[in-house]
Order: sequence, then C-alpha cells, then structure tokens
Amino acid sequence: MTTLLFRRDPYLQEAPAVVLQHSPEGGIVLDQSLFFPTGGGQPGDSGWLIWEGGRVVIATTTRNADGVIVLVPGSASALPPSGAAVVQRLDWERRYRHMRMHTALHLLSAAVSRPVTGGQIGAAKSRLDFDIPDPVPERGNLEERLNLLIGSDLRVTESMIAEEDLAAQPQLVRQISAPLPQGHGRLRLVGIGEGAGQIDLQACSGTHVARIGEIGRIQVAEIARKGRNSHRISITLDS
Ligand SMILES: [Zn+2]
Repeated sequence: MTTLLFRRDPYLQEAPAVVLQHSPEGGIVLDQSLFFPTGGGQPGDSGWLIWEGGRVVIATTTRNADGVIVLVPGSASALPPSGAAVVQRLDWERRYRHMRMHTALHLLSAAVSRPVTGGQIGAAKSRLDFDIPDPVPERGNLEERLNLLIGSDLRVTESMIAEEDLAAQPQLVRQISAPLPQGHGRLRLVGIGEGAGQIDLQACSGTHVARIGEIGRIQVAEIARKGRNSHRISITLDS
C-alpha cells in the first residue's frame, strides 16, 4: 500500500519514492505519494517524476477501483521502471490554490449552514451546491462575512474519529468531503478553530491550509438557482 505523504504533510513539495509497479492503464504506483488523488471534489495533483536518465510529466492522479493511488503520465514518454528510485515534485502553485480553495469551501459551508448537495474545487473557481429555500444569502453580505472569518486566521485542526462514532453524528458528513476510511475503520475530522471558538468540524480527506488567513481575500462570484430549493455558490480567490 502507498504511504500518503500528502496526508502526513500537505506542505511537502518534493520527496523521494520507489516505483512499485505500472498499472494496466499505463499509470505509475509509488511506495509513497506526494500526489493527492482526485476525490471529494478536489482535483488530482499534477507535477513531475524525475529519475536517473529520465523525467515525466504527471498530468493528474487518481485512485483505481481497488483504492490504489495511480499517477497518470501526461505523455507517452518512457516511464521509470518498477523498482526505480525517483524524485516526485508537485506542481505546487496549482496544489496550493486547491488547498486554499478547499479550506475556503469549508468556511462557505459553515457560513451558509445548509445541507451541501455537491461541489467542485478548481484552481481558478470553486463551488458548492446547497439545499437552500428562499431567501438566499445576499452576495455582498456573504462575501463580507467570509472575509471577516478569513481575517480571524483560525487554525485548521485534524483529529481522528471511529467510523461508528461518525455514523452517530451525520451532521459531520457533507457530500463534498467524501470521507474515506483512513485504515482500521477510522476517519479524519477537520476543524476550523478550537474549543468554544470552533466554527466548523467535518469529516474530510482532502488537503487544507494550516491557518485560514492563508486563503487571502475571496470573492463570492455568483449565487445561482439550480432548482426549486437548490442554489450554487461560486467563489474565486483575489490573488
Ligand atoms: Zn476538507
């Protein structure tokens, strides 16, 4: 099984690895992965693998049907052979934007405080779909509240919860976060703020920034009706 380096330290940009195998689809499986696989609305990581005598662009990263993390090459160039020692390097600029956006969506779900029915994270624009009857939040007001929250620079925390304990607290599960068991039937809880000052807590397997101030100013780009009780709220980063 691949060790999840992105889980241990989401700020790690470069690390060594050994190629375990090539997948039948032509992807690469490593003993430890910096590359986050597509999931919970967050796109898979891209970057490069470098080894003695070679280099390949990684276009994206997925999980196959068995849950194995597969790095998908961006071209048909030669791949590092099984057993090869490689250096894996992330497209950090893109990943860091995903981390900022992902954490901003936690804030958005806390600020709107309605059931989330879907969502998508992108480096340029991200969105959540909410089950919201009228009236919907006013765009400028919501944007101001979100930026006030970001200004508080609360810490993002992680803890573990047993699957059966999570099942007893369904409010901690939101569709966007698509929590995955982390082994031994435990899942990860991601909180924003601590103790009485905690403003959000949900099961999530994505990558987040350490403090919400790192998100920087955001804009609520659009609040669009998607159905009778469904609204889509899109956000962009100021920089
Ligand atoms: Zn998350």
